[in-house]
Amino acid sequence: MSSERFSALKEMGERKLPRVEFPEGKISSWFGCDVFGREQMRQYLPKSVFESVVSAIEDNRRIDRRVADEVASGMKAWAIDRGATHYTHWFQPLNDSTAEKHDAFFEPLWGGGGWEAFSGEMLVQQEPDASSFPTGGLRNTFEARGYSAWDPSSPTFIIDDTLCIPSVFISYTGEALDFKTPLLRSIAALDRAAVEVCRMFDKDVTKVVPTLGWEQEYFLLDQALFKARPDLVQTGRTLMGHTAAKDQQLEDHYWGEIPDRVIGYMKEVEERCFRLGIPLKTRHNETAPNQYECAPMFEEANIAVDHNTLLMTVMRRVALRHKLAVLFHEKPFAGVNGSGKHVNWSLATDKGMNLLAPGKTPKGNMQFLSFFVCALTAAARHGNMIMASVATEGNSHRLGGGEAPPAIFSVFVGETLSAVLDEIEQRVSKKALSPDEKTGIKLDIGKIPEILLDNTDRNRTSPFAFTGNRFELRALGASANCAMPLIVLNTAMADALSDFAAAVEKLVGKGVKRDVAILQVIREHIIDTHKIRFEGNGYSRDWHDEAARRGLKAMNSVVDAMSEYVAEDNVKLFGKFNIFSPVELEARHEIKCETYLKKVQIEARVLGDLALNHIIPTAIRYQNLLLDNVRSIKEVFKVQASEMIGPQMEVITEISRRTEAIRTMVHEMVEERKVWNMRMDIPGRAAGYEKYVAPFLSKIRDHIDHLEMVIDDRLWTLPKYRELFSM
Ligand code: ADP
Ligand code: MG
Repeated sequence: MSSERFSALKEMGERKLPRVEFPEGKISSWFGCDVFGREQMRQYLPKSVFESVVSAIEDNRRIDRRVADEVASGMKAWAIDRGATHYTHWFQPLNDSTAEKHDAFFEPLWGGGGWEAFSGEMLVQQEPDASSFPTGGLRNTFEARGYSAWDPSSPTFIIDDTLCIPSVFISYTGEALDFKTPLLRSIAALDRAAVEVCRMFDKDVTKVVPTLGWEQEYFLLDQALFKARPDLVQTGRTLMGHTAAKDQQLEDHYWGEIPDRVIGYMKEVEERCFRLGIPLKTRHNETAPNQYECAPMFEEANIAVDHNTLLMTVMRRVALRHKLAVLFHEKPFAGVNGSGKHVNWSLATDKGMNLLAPGKTPKGNMQFLSFFVCALTAAARHGNMIMASVATEGNSHRLGGGEAPPAIFSVFVGETLSAVLDEIEQRVSKKALSPDEKTGIKLDIGKIPEILLDNTDRNRTSPFAFTGNRFELRALGASANCAMPLIVLNTAMADALSDFAAAVEKLVGKGVKRDVAILQVIREHIIDTHKIRFEGNGYSRDWHDEAARRGLKAMNSVVDAMSEYVAEDNVKLFGKFNIFSPVELEARHEIKCETYLKKVQIEARVLGDLALNHIIPTAIRYQNLLLDNVRSIKEVFKVQASEMIGPQMEVITEISRRTEAIRTMVHEMVEERKVWNMRMDIPGRAAGYEKYVAPFLSKIRDHIDHLEMVIDDRLWTLPKYRELFSM
């Protein structure tokens, strides 16, 4: 665009930005002040009520009605003291955002006046109309009601004037319509299976929870420039745009100086997050221009998931105040890195022990190895389902792109541990071990360094890497809810652990000593998981060939990957632990396919529109200028003119050729959509969109990007990449 217009837009964005200062005092003195946490409960609830709530949360028990009434009354008093006027059940429907419908505490009284009402009943359950949330055909319109129910294990909090109550969301007939319900079910299943294995080593363990530490990548753009790009506004990504001459080649953005304007934004996000009890820890520039990342201290998975969704809400709102636009799309710009959300996952006991960290003693290490090999088994058996859980339209532009993990699921273990696994595989056998052999092996196991963190080389090309005391799943997209891959990991882990425990008990029943039995079962798991282990470069061609030989599936089509939701072994797995019924899985499969195809449909419409009423008219305007110029040259120079008009003629023909190609392809794309829209089954329609509609997007774009290069900058109304990449 013209430099005058660009400067005008930029100036608009930079005028009167809010100044941000943290509140007085240390962060620790006001951290969590907007959360009804333990401290607040202690102040606002009678002692007996406080104790029964805390113990119900710890033991995963329901809170009974009488207690709920008292909790509601304390919560109301706290909320009103903090200026709240409304309350809402806050939940996570199947669309990667959050839902809230505010109700006022205030109720008028018959005969005049009014009061602030909030009962146990209002706290525990609400009946929102579910008809406009994605349900995958689960809910007929005559059963449009859904239920939202309070999740006491995640604390309530206040945003602005509203008390938000974390809740699950289920249909009238009891099927889960959200992320939280199956997540809580998977956490309970994992707890049961993990405690059983823990007790082989420590009789006192009573509870195990999965932990999650996410890392959130995002882009920030000047809002005025953002708004001048209809494709960004409507689809979250640029559907066109020639690469900027300089983007990330010099690697000067990653961990570079954070611009003042961005620091102001980050600080306000942090302030609000700290008030909400979200323990943000790191902030830095990421690889691509205008790309950043933040990450918290890890927490219990359920709370960490809530905190990540809440963070995204906070980030969007604060961006508006700073005249910025925040992008969570997985691939907003072609040619530079996209955004992911790393999922760091581990298991912790009620005593705070990390079960995926090597212990201090041989016994501790046997426990660690038991959990570790079960995680390998979970990955080997259900890696395809993990990939399905991250398969989305946005992620299809990122996974396998040579910047994000490859589209093949494998596990990186690291040199130290690989050596330990190989040792066990070679030295333990089905035969009874001699006391000497046993001592030898135990001694070796005892030598696993307590801090593996420093000596696991960080293989950045692996989708699922062991990083010393946790696994890091790097395949999730930046915009997604973390819950789905966690549900898969937790459930697959519960399955592996319960098989592990059963196998050990079977051997013990046959008279094998328990410690030997454990070693033998560990060895079986090591042998059974060879195919999933890969230590090399995940981007290399060799790996793709090798993976094919091993029978590992490459996710070349996201729609195809989604069919894992209804694959027999996954239906069986989720059924076994009551995480999802077959109907719930089918519904989720349908929702994923439908979301995919709708996103492609929206992109196709936006691109078609822009091509026909932005790009082609601009191209023709410029072509006319050139034609005028050619005519004038001919008039003035007569015969010599033909030598002078060569370059203009070239551009004139190029414009004709490209506009014609664009027009034809937009037309063909529309026709292709019509064909697939007739198709009634949603997965089939999505597959058609993926195969026959989506490819037009990049083909049309290619012509547009070439036109962008030749057309007069002053006529090009859309901000270009080099302009968007300014802060
Ligand atoms: P890197 O970029 O090297 O992966 P970061 O510091 O950005 O490192 O992120 C590390 C993430 O791992 C943080 O979110 C942190 O809370 C999380 N993490 C650390 N230990 C655990 C654990 N035991 N369970 C779950 N997450 C963890
Ligand atoms: Mg990481």
